[in-house]
Amino acid sequence: MNRTVLITGASRGIGRAIALAFAAEGDRVAINYHTNEAAARATAADCRALGAQAEIFRADVACREDVFAMVRTAEHTFGPVEVLVNNAGIAQQKLFTDITEADWRRMTGTHLDGTFYCCQAVLPAMIRAHSGRIINISSMWGQTGASCEVHYSAVKAGIQGLTMALAKEVGPSGILVNAIAPGVIDTEMNALLDAETRAALDDETPLCRAGRTEEIASAAVFLAGPGSSFITGQILGVNGGFIT
Ligand code: NAD
Repeated sequence: MNRTVLITGASRGIGRAIALAFAAEGDRVAINYHTNEAAARATAADCRALGAQAEIFRADVACREDVFAMVRTAEHTFGPVEVLVNNAGIAQQKLFTDITEADWRRMTGTHLDGTFYCCQAVLPAMIRAHSGRIINISSMWGQTGASCEVHYSAVKAGIQGLTMALAKEVGPSGILVNAIAPGVIDTEMNALLDAETRAALDDETPLCRAGRTEEIASAAVFLAGPGSSFITGQILGVNGGFIT
């Protein structure tokens, strides 16, 4: 569709699938990565193989200076960001009483500060254009809470609040802001779960399996596309029916 799409944390997992899905739509894909340049290059090469323009942009989303520099460079390369997907994230399983100050800061920095900085960096151009889409990747744990992932659940709930409030604020400027709340998706993030926990999560999911990264990517493409032009401030569950 010839849009400039910036996806954070797009070197692997859900972010990579989202980059490929927008590339297949014919968009220009700005692939953010933090440390794994080789994987980001591979994502970009796979996007180009689909006929799209794609470049990689390094930034730690938890660092305001990095994010603003990345957006400046991406806009210089491809033009103003028209679709932002805030996907970068980390997970950690710990008893609440064992969560350290550093764990808490890393979790809030990556998810909440990261989403805040990226939205602030792209919004001026979107407001000027009176158009734009922001898609935040939350989690069903932000809706229902996960034991031993209190900090993760808290930031994912925070992303949902940010989504709803920002949608109200920038709706009059023609910008749509939505979130996707995935259920359990088969990525390296879940490699830290043991086989028994994975099987129990599959059992609890009405569709009896983990989701695929492509199933989140297709929701992101929908929320960026013409078919969702009257949808904003919503949290779209893509969770196999795990929570309703
Ligand atoms: P993943 O670990 O495979 O990918 C996360 C990506 O984010 C990686 O490329 C990583 O390098 C990047 N990242 C982490 N910190 C960063 C930082 N500070 N700056 C820039 N990039 C950074 O995990 P995934 O499963 O693909 O997760 C993608 C998103 O989906 C995350 O926000 C995650 O919380 C969310 N999510 C995942 C699941 C799941 O079951 N996999 C479920 C719900 C929500």
